Amino acid sequence: MFTLEGKVSLVTGASRGIGKAIAMELAKAGSDVALNYHAHREPAEAVAAEIHKLGRKALVYQADVSKPEENDEMVARIKKDFGVVQIVVNNAGITRDKSFTKMDRQMWHDVLNVNLTGPAMIIHRLIGPMIESGWGRIVNITSIVGQMGNFGQANYAAAKGGLMALTKTLAREFARKNVTVNAVAPGFIETDMTAAVPEASLDVVRQMTPMGRLGRPEEVAAAVVFLASPEASFITGEILGVNGGMYM
Ligand code: NAP
Repeated sequence: MFTLEGKVSLVTGASRGIGKAIAMELAKAGSDVALNYHAHREPAEAVAAEIHKLGRKALVYQADVSKPEENDEMVARIKKDFGVVQIVVNNAGITRDKSFTKMDRQMWHDVLNVNLTGPAMIIHRLIGPMIESGWGRIVNITSIVGQMGNFGQANYAAAKGGLMALTKTLAREFARKNVTVNAVAPGFIETDMTAAVPEASLDVVRQMTPMGRLGRPEEVAAAVVFLASPEASFITGEILGVNGGMYM
């Protein structure tokens, strides 16, 4: 439906789960894709191989998005391999859950560094050439938890809430440059991240979700492709919920 032919996308955390689905859907829409991963090279390579079968270019880049020097190296390599990145999807994310009184400083910093500072640094490094190219799309993957809060996730909720505030601010700053900045806020989606949640808690989630189920990564990816598309040209600073009606 939407065409991204001739575009280059970077998806962080593209080896698994939602990031993998986003990378695949962007490629199906015609984009070449730079795939970032942190620890799991093999699944990232497998995603690249699937994208090659679609006739698109895909290469993998190891980097911890919370580390400035690793981001610098990754961005330099992507520039050499692909040229200007016009679509950035900040998807990489982690959880380190504990009730607030038991949450230590390290758990706080790890989650803030990967989920909030990482996306800000990636955008900072890529925005110049994107603006110069005259067209750009930034899509940040936030969370329903940043909108509602969630027991045991003070660090994650603060990071994702901050990511939404960052999205709206950068949307204002880049609006006249033909670069839109939006966020997708998934509800609970079937990935490794939710596989770690006890089944009893997932039952509560299902009960709280009008659609009565968890979402699929592809359902998040479809929202990303829409926001990345030329057709979404007058949408910026938006937080698009993909949550089965859990938060509205
Ligand atoms: P996931 O299955 O745990 O996958 C996480 C991905 O992020 C992997 O590709 C991982 O790479 C990468 N990653 C982790 N730390 C990284 C780092 N420091 N630098 C670079 N990459 C890193 O997660 P998911 O469920 O697909 O979640 C994807 C995004 O959606 C996250 O931002 C998450 O907060 C958000 N989200 C998820 C849900 C949900 O219910 N699943 C709901 C709302 C929002 P490796 O494979 O190399 O480790």
